Amino acid sequence: MSGSIYLDHNATTQAAPEVVAEMVAAMQRAWANPSSTHAPGQAAKRLLADARSRVANFLGAQASEVVFTSGATEANHMAVLGALAGSRGRLRRRLVLSSVEHPGLLALAQRLADEGVPVDRIRVDTQGRLDMDHARTLIRDDVSLVSVMGANNETGVCLPVAALAELAHAHGAWLHVDATQLAGKVALSFAASGADLMSVSAHKFAGPKGVGALLVRKGLPLVPLIAGRQERHRRGGTENLPGIAGFAAACELAGATLAADIERTRGLRERLEQGLLRGLPGAHLYGAQAERLPNTACLRFGELAAEPVLARLERAGVIASSGAACSAGGTQPSHVLLAMGESAEQARSGVRFSLGPDTTTADIDAALDAIQRALLPLLDPQPLAA
Ligand code: PMP
Repeated sequence: MSGSIYLDHNATTQAAPEVVAEMVAAMQRAWANPSSTHAPGQAAKRLLADARSRVANFLGAQASEVVFTSGATEANHMAVLGALAGSRGRLRRRLVLSSVEHPGLLALAQRLADEGVPVDRIRVDTQGRLDMDHARTLIRDDVSLVSVMGANNETGVCLPVAALAELAHAHGAWLHVDATQLAGKVALSFAASGADLMSVSAHKFAGPKGVGALLVRKGLPLVPLIAGRQERHRRGGTENLPGIAGFAAACELAGATLAADIERTRGLRERLEQGLLRGLPGAHLYGAQAERLPNTACLRFGELAAEPVLARLERAGVIASSGAACSAGGTQPSHVLLAMGESAEQARSGVRFSLGPDTTTADIDAALDAIQRALLPLLDPQPLAA
């Protein structure tokens, strides 16, 4: 990838050197089982407690509210299945999500629906904003859990967490927020959010893959997904201590520079968007009028399918991605863009550029130049004759 400009930070990020160093140190010096009562075990236990405090501090949670998991997919499963298990057999068993959730969560919801759990999806508008009027009709007293993402991974459009917390709580339901794309990109406080449950993942902000957390509001009687004694009986299995140490390091690094990163990244993203909209006829920016993550720009270029566009961009030295999933049966349109009212053709055309704290002005200018040279020959600058 050397020489390429990496604009796919919403997919994953490279672990920071400080993160790698803490992981190696944990493996070398705290390799014992943190549940063991002997001295090496107690040293590992202290490292785990220290990492838990650092993660909690960054996310505005209490240390006791942090349950370490293998990432956000597991945390999402834990929240949904744990909430429904607690209310099984009672009248409160409906699940409400948004129509733009992460594919892993949507697949789980589909499985539950097939098993007979009532599941509803809240609509979004053409900008990707959640339809709160629709939410008000769906969130009633039979709802167990409302589960929404804090920000969409494809478009960066933010969802109204505080308003949903109020609505869910007014009907006795819990709110779970998949904050995977918020953490490390915007200021985030579990305590202030009003959410009862929140998923995060370390690899989206310079931490390692395969580790994350579910934040569980103090006292919430969540049924564990994986039984066992660890994590105060909330998630069994020997803790991934190297991963957790790396997660804590990533939290601290992000916390130190977040405020400055937000402003700088937003400026660079606007520079990229303006350049693309001005320079490429037919370029369309998704969620332009919505509140969005500072680092994410999702566009289509006329109705050019994303797949060949991305291949051209990569050859030109720019790495981006698409929300459309490739499968053996061909490219599937993005469910997010379909939910925003796009046609199947348009929903196969979305290209996402996601910046990171290491993205520079020179990167953006070079990317703009490369993208224009790669795509201009494909786009007809002349409007079609009537
Ligand atoms: N939720 C969202 C919104 C995501 O963007 C992702 C990662 N693409 C996930 C969940 C899954 O996270 P993980 O890779 O930690 O399982």
